[in-house]
Amino acid sequence: MSTAAAYAKPSSDGAFEKVTIERREVGPDDVLIDIKYAGICHSDIHTARDEWGGAQYPCVPGHEIAGIVAAVGSSVRKYQVGDRVGVGCLVNSCGRCVPCLAGEEQYCTNGATWTYNTRVPESAQPGGYTMGGYSTQIVVDESFVLSIPEGIGLDVAAPLLCAGITLFSPLKHWNAGPGKKVAIIGMGGLGHVGVKIAAALGAEVTVLSQSLRKRDDGLRMGAHHYYATSDKETFRQLRGQFDLIINTVSADLPIDNYLRLLALDGTLVILGLPEHPMSVTGRHLAGFRRSLAGSMIGGLAQTQEMLNFCASHGIGAEIELISADEIDSAYDRVVASDVQYRFVIDAATL
Ligand code: NAP
Ligand code: ZN
Repeated sequence: MSTAAAYAKPSSDGAFEKVTIERREVGPDDVLIDIKYAGICHSDIHTARDEWGGAQYPCVPGHEIAGIVAAVGSSVRKYQVGDRVGVGCLVNSCGRCVPCLAGEEQYCTNGATWTYNTRVPESAQPGGYTMGGYSTQIVVDESFVLSIPEGIGLDVAAPLLCAGITLFSPLKHWNAGPGKKVAIIGMGGLGHVGVKIAAALGAEVTVLSQSLRKRDDGLRMGAHHYYATSDKETFRQLRGQFDLIINTVSADLPIDNYLRLLALDGTLVILGLPEHPMSVTGRHLAGFRRSLAGSMIGGLAQTQEMLNFCASHGIGAEIELISADEIDSAYDRVVASDVQYRFVIDAATL
């Protein structure tokens, strides 16, 4: 076993504090990573504040991890000491079920092991539940480690490990590309990466944000149109327009208003995971044969495909680099939609 410095939330309403955690011994298939950067995803906040229930404390979040390989186990073939690597939301899955065999490990029917807050044997993580990237080191099976291509900085690559794949996967699944009208609701961490990826895929991209405050940024990132959802006229003007709408909003939304913006056979994909259920009126789905769907991150192979795609298109997240003692205030700013566009913790400050 080895120790690592980390920042942990002691309870749902306690402030983050510096702690020392243990990591397992590097096994034959394991990679020890010196973490350089960890993005702050809104899911970290939902979990650490126990908005989804079931949080384990002390809670060390973080599933947008970028760093350098510090040691490898005897059977590791993919990585060497010094390699630039990332870890996303998944650190294990059964490897045998239908989704795992299809490369969709995030939908493992025997229960994927998330990078933090999942119960595991003490041999996998001392303490009995996973602890994430707000720490200086992590030990991960090589199958769940991604290679970060040269050409993307580790700091702007970190958020791609969750935000990037969470948008890339549904954009590919629902064939975003030339001739397709795609709307992205919310210009936050997920949304801004989604704008860049959808534009690079060749789709006609519209941002639906609460206000026009971030319009110039959205257009610079590749959006073709930008509308404020605080303006009722937006919903009248855009009725029946889109082939695909991707909802990245972390709060409750009037879903019916957005369903009516879909064209014939259009799909509204839910990515945002607020704590309350949402309501949908049947006739807004039935009309124009619309679909309401969801999507959860992406599998390991597709995450690597996404990183390679982003590197070849010059896509990284737009970040505000913070020190570890700023995590609490960063959380408050994310919840207030005051982030441009992802906070990333500099692990040197942990
Ligand atoms: P984020 O950075 O906070 O972005 C969310 C954006 O939603 C905000 O920037 C804001 O954009 C908009 N928004 C916030 N409150 C709103 C409100 N009351 N009404 C309307 N719009 C509002 O969060 P994130 O990290 O991108 O994550 C977004 C959600 O996705 C979270 O619920 C997270 O848990 C979930 N998530 C899901 C997956 C998955 O696999 N499905 C993966 C990662 C995260 P504007 O200012 O532009 O309006
Ligand atoms: Zn995330």
